[in-house]
Amino acid sequence: MKGLHPGVGVPHGVASVRHTESRAIISAIAALFMLGLMVGCGRSDVPPLATAKRGEWQRHGFDLSETRYSPLDSINRSNVAGLKLAWFYDLDTNRGQEATPIMVGGKLFTTSAWSKVQAFDAATGALQWTFDPKVPGSAGVKGCCDVVNRGVALENGRVFIATFDGRLIALDADTGQMLWSVQTVDEGQPYTITGAPRLVKGKVLIGNSGAEYGVRGYLSAYDMATGKLAWRFYTVPGKAGKDGAASDAILERLAGPTWKGKPDSVGGGGTVWDSMAYDPKLDLLYVGVGNGSPWNQAIRSPGGGDNLFLASILALRPDTGEYVWHYQETPGDQWDYTATQHMILADLTIGGKQRKVLMQAPKNGFFYVLDRTNGKLISADPYVHQTWTSGIDMKTGRPRINPQANYSRTGKPWLSLPGFLGGHNWHPMAFSPQTGLVYLPVNEIATPYIRDEHFAWKKRANNLGLDLAKATMPADRSIVNVVKAGLKGRIVAWDPVRRRAAWTVELGGPWNGGMMATAGGLLFQGTAAGDFNAYDVRDGRKLWSFPAQSGIVAPPITYSVGGKQYVSVVVGWGGVYPLLLGELAKKSNDRPNRSRVLTFALDGKAMLPDQAPLATDFPPPPPSFGTDQQVAHGAGLYARSCGGCHGDGVRSGGVLPELRHSAVAADPNAWRSVVIGGLLQDQGMASFAADMTERDAEAIRAYVVFRANQDKAAR
Ligand code: CA
Repeated sequence: MKGLHPGVGVPHGVASVRHTESRAIISAIAALFMLGLMVGCGRSDVPPLATAKRGEWQRHGFDLSETRYSPLDSINRSNVAGLKLAWFYDLDTNRGQEATPIMVGGKLFTTSAWSKVQAFDAATGALQWTFDPKVPGSAGVKGCCDVVNRGVALENGRVFIATFDGRLIALDADTGQMLWSVQTVDEGQPYTITGAPRLVKGKVLIGNSGAEYGVRGYLSAYDMATGKLAWRFYTVPGKAGKDGAASDAILERLAGPTWKGKPDSVGGGGTVWDSMAYDPKLDLLYVGVGNGSPWNQAIRSPGGGDNLFLASILALRPDTGEYVWHYQETPGDQWDYTATQHMILADLTIGGKQRKVLMQAPKNGFFYVLDRTNGKLISADPYVHQTWTSGIDMKTGRPRINPQANYSRTGKPWLSLPGFLGGHNWHPMAFSPQTGLVYLPVNEIATPYIRDEHFAWKKRANNLGLDLAKATMPADRSIVNVVKAGLKGRIVAWDPVRRRAAWTVELGGPWNGGMMATAGGLLFQGTAAGDFNAYDVRDGRKLWSFPAQSGIVAPPITYSVGGKQYVSVVVGWGGVYPLLLGELAKKSNDRPNRSRVLTFALDGKAMLPDQAPLATDFPPPPPSFGTDQQVAHGAGLYARSCGGCHGDGVRSGGVLPELRHSAVAADPNAWRSVVIGGLLQDQGMASFAADMTERDAEAIRAYVVFRANQDKAAR
């Protein structure tokens, strides 16, 4: 196997330990992996790009190939050191911000949390209009990964936005007036939408999310002019019978037989929640498909099987949704190894031949280069340390899976790298034709998988089939600090032809921003720690940095208006990493969260106001109460229903308030009115009355107060 780190093998025997030891294993692995630094050299012997300079950023990924490479070069290696803030805009929500703005006709269109849209004069930052789809706060509970939105699509004077509660809406680009709106999901099920729509041949393409809760994934195509449904493609088989959808025939012929005994209660997952790309010459639409639902395959497909089209790339005809080919990256996925990560189309010379390729670095840790005409594997190499396979079999294109990773069958805990947050998550990559390199934000976050021996479906809880309470971090600071030290983030500049990293840059921790490359020889990226940086695409040398005051996860864009080049990025910390990992995520970012649009130019003159310090002085927690049994019951409920937003072990990651210091947690009546009565549902805290009793709620409060006291004692 051509390894990224040839000196580091697969640590065997990891899964045979008891879960109580799993934290020590994380630290052992972390230490091992710290040895894995490497240095390479860049190259600049690539001919210049012939693309016309239009100055706009017209599509989510810049172009249909989703390269996130701009031909603008007024801002370049020689002058980027003088780049300054030109204008900024304070967003009205400090939840996670993941949007890629679009710039067309001198107007910048972006989105913020809760699916709100903003339109600006791209040169001055003057607000033109806003659109609030008024997503009900109670819908927040349906999402695994924050109430984020990744942006709009725009064509022919129409802006398209998909909302967190499942609507697809067309707006007039000049006025923000709504032209049409359709509901794309069954509102009775835990579907959400966070992804940006894509536009191909007069159709708006949109998928959805919810595989952590139990849904069945699909992609829909709507007529751009009318909002009428043109076709739908389900990614996994449903209950017996056909859907009357574009996927009927292929699901029956190919996918159906790869599921073994799927119960009717199982949606199966395979949600299309982020990435797509389109090749107009081949007329193929590429679609990234998500993980299995539940994660635990013994529940989802008791007899095993590949479970097509989970964790696969699908190639479809955009006119009809007709299936053309698929490539499954993680057969029988049970690790949340989605294939929804950003895909880039490029033409590369490999082995002396020009190849039309599709490149993806999905969560599972391998960088795939496929022949996009037919879905055949060209190469697959680890871009990050991985423990779940001994490599990919190039004859079959299948991973050689470590038997110990099969936790749903062995019944033994498995600690995996990558973990369920992926070696690379949704944060977009960029491809520079100048260097031939793909720039990707990489995470090293080991996570345990522990089978739930008493799984039961719930309405207001994750339905993974995993026992998350057993995986909760203890209060012991020494353990917390060791695990924190093992969390890593870096930029990897991947050479898809030589199948190795050309260079890497280590960052302070994981969950850094998406990438953008320019013809000015620059790579822009915001970091979790709140810096917005520019690097030399050739070697990763840092050329410029701006203190953005808040963590950045969104990818930047660049555009020109009146001959002047601008760089723009939406700032704001959030997403699943800080929400779920809680305090551990502060390894990357421990600043107050402040969401803004920042736009830079060489002659910028704007200044950010001073930043308020992070509150560190909290009232003491109320005294502990409740029996051990009650606290343990509360811990289990917290892990299923609360921890996904309020943080592992009741420690906040800085996006949502600390429950440990909440006055509501000190008062049983106030607590009940929030958790059961839905008092704060407009702020995003839904009522859990659907599958929680008042006694359950009080048990959770007992656990929260217990944890608050435990942490106080540990400090
Ligand atoms: Ca997932």
